[in-house]
Amino acid sequence: MLDVILCIAVEHDLKLVALAAAICILGSWLSFRLFDRGLADSGLTALGWNFLAATAAGSSVWSTHFIAILAFKTGAPVSFDPVLTIVSLLIAIAGIFAGLAATTLSIPFSAAAGGILVGLGVASMHYVGMSAYHIDGLVNWERTFVVASVIMIVAASMVALALMKREDIKARPEKAAGIFAAGIVGLHFVGMTAMTVTPLVLRGMSVQQNSYLAMAMAIALACIVIAGTGLTSFVIDHRTRSDSDRKLYQMALYDSLTGLPNRQNFTDKLVAAIAQSDRTAEGFAFIGMDLDRFKEINDLWGHLAGDAVLAEVGDRLAALKSDRLFFARLGGDEFAVICRCTNEKLVFEDMMHIKNALVRPIALEDGTEVAIGVSLGAAFYPADAPDAQDLVSRADLAMYRAKASAITSICFYDSGMDEVVRQRKALAADLRNALANGELELYYQMQNTVDTEEVTGYEVLLRWRHPARGMVSPVDFIPIAEESGLIMEIGRWVLQKACEQAAIWPNDLRIAVNLSPIQLNDPKLPGFVRKVLDETGLAPHRLELELTESSIIENRERTLSLLSQIKALGVTIALDDFGTGYSSLETLRTFPFNKIKLDRSFMNQIEESPQARAIIRAVLAIGKSMDVPVLAEGVETRSQLDILRQEGCDAMQGYLLGRPAPHDAILATFASMDAIADENTGVLQQAIKSAAKAREQDLIVAG
Ligand code: C2E
Ligand code: CA
Ligand code: CA
Repeated sequence: MLDVILCIAVEHDLKLVALAAAICILGSWLSFRLFDRGLADSGLTALGWNFLAATAAGSSVWSTHFIAILAFKTGAPVSFDPVLTIVSLLIAIAGIFAGLAATTLSIPFSAAAGGILVGLGVASMHYVGMSAYHIDGLVNWERTFVVASVIMIVAASMVALALMKREDIKARPEKAAGIFAAGIVGLHFVGMTAMTVTPLVLRGMSVQQNSYLAMAMAIALACIVIAGTGLTSFVIDHRTRSDSDRKLYQMALYDSLTGLPNRQNFTDKLVAAIAQSDRTAEGFAFIGMDLDRFKEINDLWGHLAGDAVLAEVGDRLAALKSDRLFFARLGGDEFAVICRCTNEKLVFEDMMHIKNALVRPIALEDGTEVAIGVSLGAAFYPADAPDAQDLVSRADLAMYRAKASAITSICFYDSGMDEVVRQRKALAADLRNALANGELELYYQMQNTVDTEEVTGYEVLLRWRHPARGMVSPVDFIPIAEESGLIMEIGRWVLQKACEQAAIWPNDLRIAVNLSPIQLNDPKLPGFVRKVLDETGLAPHRLELELTESSIIENRERTLSLLSQIKALGVTIALDDFGTGYSSLETLRTFPFNKIKLDRSFMNQIEESPQARAIIRAVLAIGKSMDVPVLAEGVETRSQLDILRQEGCDAMQGYLLGRPAPHDAILATFASMDAIADENTGVLQQAIKSAAKAREQDLIVAG
């Protein structure tokens, strides 16, 4: 050992030793990185990587060796045999290449065999190189050191290659390179210790240490060029791989349209959030989100516009992203949020922010602006659901509730919803048969002028006499009909039936039929209205259609054009429930309604609340200025009517003057009003008789 240390410290130029060491370490590291890359591939590509690794390793080992030899102070002039020098380089490359290739074989002891080949290749390079090195002196070799040096490099190579094949070890190339480099250093210096030189020439002869330095630098440079080729290939490959890895990663976990995390990514996050919540007992909220009116945008403006809207939604959501909020697009117009918070008030505020961000108009490329809505439903983990699946479906329940609600677009799950859903499903199934079974019928509620209380017409209100449940309110079953699409069929039936019934009235009072927003999506509606009028013979001016502002908001242009076609038939159009939900002056301005129906919620407050009265006054003023009569709904008391009279309201409807009643009862009213002009109307006579019988019972149910 001491011999070796002395050999390094005394007999070597330490500057060159340092250079040799640097080349040895860097070269080994690069070679093993290249080899590692080869291990990940197979066939020719793997062989190519092995070749690059072998050239890098061979040339750096060779350079290390030669620079170190130049560092060796022989005290005697030296010369090199060029052929043997080159041959030694080739031996190194070939030996290492053979060893690496052997290592990649999937046979037992391949790493050991590979290690022996590499080790012997490097050792041969060293000793062939030494034989190319002619010293003018007596050279003596000590066998033990020679053998020890060979064992060192073979052992180091075997260990390094065995390490490379162990997939469970981290930083394999670095560790293997360290061992290999140690082996090279061992080989060289133990090998040099084995050699003693007795100079034959006289003192004073130049040993040309300076030109050695130049030569060492040249060798180092050549080595850098060779190794550099390998390094460049490695870097280029690494870049392309990491670029495509990044792309693949992006594609696998992110939605390409919105840039938001996709369903897969979201599922992982949800599972992680649940695991974390179980650990920390902190809990979180899951928010399900669905865009409103997205389908219409797609239908009306095309899929490109739909995509633009989704992309904008993605941007707006991304801008809201925080430590607390994680957004994802689950598909279509469906989004999800994980909100790390269990405080209902804060979660509600987050939901408000989300909603406010999304309802702002979105400008399309051609300059048109579209507006979407959003319905949000939230459920808490673990308070509302024990696992991910239930959590998502419960938040969805809340979301559907929000979607169905006219009042709010944000809902929280509560356990009653499960029961409600069960009930709704049962009701939806029954509703399918209701029409065929004759369970639906029409009630009529009078509308009067405010000043003389004279009857001007009747609103047609649908009733469902359920065989088991009794009377089901339209408030409960119309939304179900809308959800299931049954509303189209039911709506047509209502219109047809109401016109048929009104056509036999002995007067020309008007009927007002309610239209669902869904019906207004049907381009055949104007044609159907005309057909019904033709078939029933009802004068068009006796038919009024009531619709709410939500029908127009959902699909402005198309609905307005449909309404114009209907209006052109001579049918009038009333704006229902004005003052709730979306009410806007814009709607009143864009379409010439024949009537504004002030929502009945104002009537409850008209006596006590100055604000309610102020709103009524304002609506009346708008009506006056636009020359559209205003009808107040839900008038239940005299004092309410008095106030309306004071304020100058045109018309009213409410329990005070008339509750909704079945058709027969209405006919009976006409009879008692001495309104039967034509004695010959046999149908009417018959109807009145049966009406008398049914009247009492019906009036009770109708209230
Ligand atoms: P709406 O169009 O606002 O109808 C007026 C509702 O107010 C009716 O409830 C009526 O019974 C009730 N009402 C009338 N006067 C008073 C009053 O003085 N006080 C109170 N508290 N309420 C009064 P109804 O018949 O239960 O209908 C509820 C809703 O169902 C209707 O609201 C309408 O939106 C819908 N609907 C009813 N029939 C149809 C239909 O044939 N087609 C469609 N699409 N919807 C319908
Ligand atoms: Ca109505
Ligand atoms: Ca109404």
